Amino acid sequence: MDRFRYNSYAQEIIFGAGSLNHLNEVVERLGCQRLMLCANHSMRVNGHLTLVENILGERLIVSLDQIHPHVQDVQFDEALALAVENNIEAIIGIGGGSPIGMAKAVSATLGKDSNSTFPVIAIPTTYAGSEMTPVYGITNTKENPPQKVTARNPKIVPQLVIYDPNLTLDLPPKLTASTGVNALAHCIEALYSINRNPISTAAATSGVHHIFDALLRCYTHPDDLEARSEMLLGSHLAGLSLASVTMGLHHGLCHVLGGTANVPHGIANSIILPHAIRFNAEVTATQLLPVAAEMEIPIVGLKPVIAIEAMVQKLFHYIGQMHLPQHLQDAGAGLQESDLPYLAEIAFQNQTVHNNPKPITNELQIAELLRDAW
Ligand code: NAD
Repeated sequence: MDRFRYNSYAQEIIFGAGSLNHLNEVVERLGCQRLMLCANHSMRVNGHLTLVENILGERLIVSLDQIHPHVQDVQFDEALALAVENNIEAIIGIGGGSPIGMAKAVSATLGKDSNSTFPVIAIPTTYAGSEMTPVYGITNTKENPPQKVTARNPKIVPQLVIYDPNLTLDLPPKLTASTGVNALAHCIEALYSINRNPISTAAATSGVHHIFDALLRCYTHPDDLEARSEMLLGSHLAGLSLASVTMGLHHGLCHVLGGTANVPHGIANSIILPHAIRFNAEVTATQLLPVAAEMEIPIVGLKPVIAIEAMVQKLFHYIGQMHLPQHLQDAGAGLQESDLPYLAEIAFQNQTVHNNPKPITNELQIAELLRDAW
């Protein structure tokens, strides 16, 4: 049997429709009196934020309800200053990966020069999975071009994660689809990660099983609570697999497309994923056979690389069924074809790209993949 090692993290997970009602009881147990809350603006518009504010009452000292995508440095500086000014003891991130990422980034910086920890509570309403990991990223907009820098810090793993599918019923179809493909990508890159382990593999395999069918149902019937619950479970398992392994070329590229070219994270995932799978197939096909089987590719008797090519074709179709952009030229971020070599150059400096199972030895390999995805 292969050797393995991985870190796991102490987290309390509360899952199920109505589980937001447990928030107060856990905050009480944590003993935190001064809380800050980070949220996407949609959380204010759809009323979820008011619900949380009512639950927390006087404990909630500051609410930041306009967190922008990709945790930008200017807004991070503002959030940090507010946290310090108000002697914040714990931070809640509610919404997508961006407000949860902001909560983690603020917690990491507050805890940097002290032995104290500043607990993070995450209430995810997309399928991005950041709530399960010790990773946070900040986009440095003062650099030209802007670059997203990621770091790992076990102190910022959310101590409490509340998954309440009721809060996802109003996630619009396009965001449902694109953040769902992000969850699928976590499972896929976990399955062939260079430091995969039995737990990440089990979580990722089960994640694909829950996601593959439920995502289409959530896309076509956004208010189907059963499908929403199954999809949230899938994204939890995807996040769990992501937490104990390193990702590869796909995620490295998505971070560059997000941080430098401002492509929304889920859209970057939807465009790049089939290309990244195809790029890696000669090295990773065997690890992805369970995904192919889940996608009903008849794998018996097929060479693994052939089965995975069939899976890639099916994935293009699957992503197309949800009307997501499938070419970088349609990513809606003003990207030009002439930007591709330059993005490949930046990606070649990205550590996640170099954690890819198939070695990336020069930036031309990345440029070629980006051209295929153009
Ligand atoms: P996001 O947080 O930027 O949210 C995307 C959009 O979804 C926003 O417009 C938001 O308003 C909307 N939204 C969220 N919940 C909604 C709801 N219930 N109803 C209506 N609208 C809703 O994006 P994301 O895709 O969730 O997360 C991406 C970010 O998370 C990226 O910055 C990515 O790098 C990061 N991420 C980090 C990790 C990690 O481990 N650190 C993992 C995955 C993603």
